[in-house]
Amino acid sequence: MKLVFQHENPIIVGNIKNILENIGVKTQLRNEYIGGAAGELPPTDTAIELWVVNDRDEERALSEIDNINFPSSSIDWYCKKCGEVNAASFEICWNCGSERADIA
Ligand SMILES: [Zn+2]
Repeated sequence: MKLVFQHENPIIVGNIKNILENIGVKTQLRNEYIGGAAGELPPTDTAIELWVVNDRDEERALSEIDNINFPSSSIDWYCKKCGEVNAASFEICWNCGSERADIA
């Protein structure tokens, strides 16, 4: 097991998990439910961790994550519900979780 990514936003982590699973990398989430359970923890301690199950997939996973354009660096699609900008590789809005809708 190797930790390849962590973020406090479960939707962003979920998107990256989907991307990795799509290229055949088995992943596992940790700390998924801490945010709701431990109210006194500061936000930095509630980051959700994304682990690859097979150590040999670590390099592939990291290079794939490197290729992901995050909303701050690349404008690819706008969420119709909340108006946030999402990277092209994201299937659901990182901000509100709405499904991607193709805009003509
Ligand atoms: Zn949204």
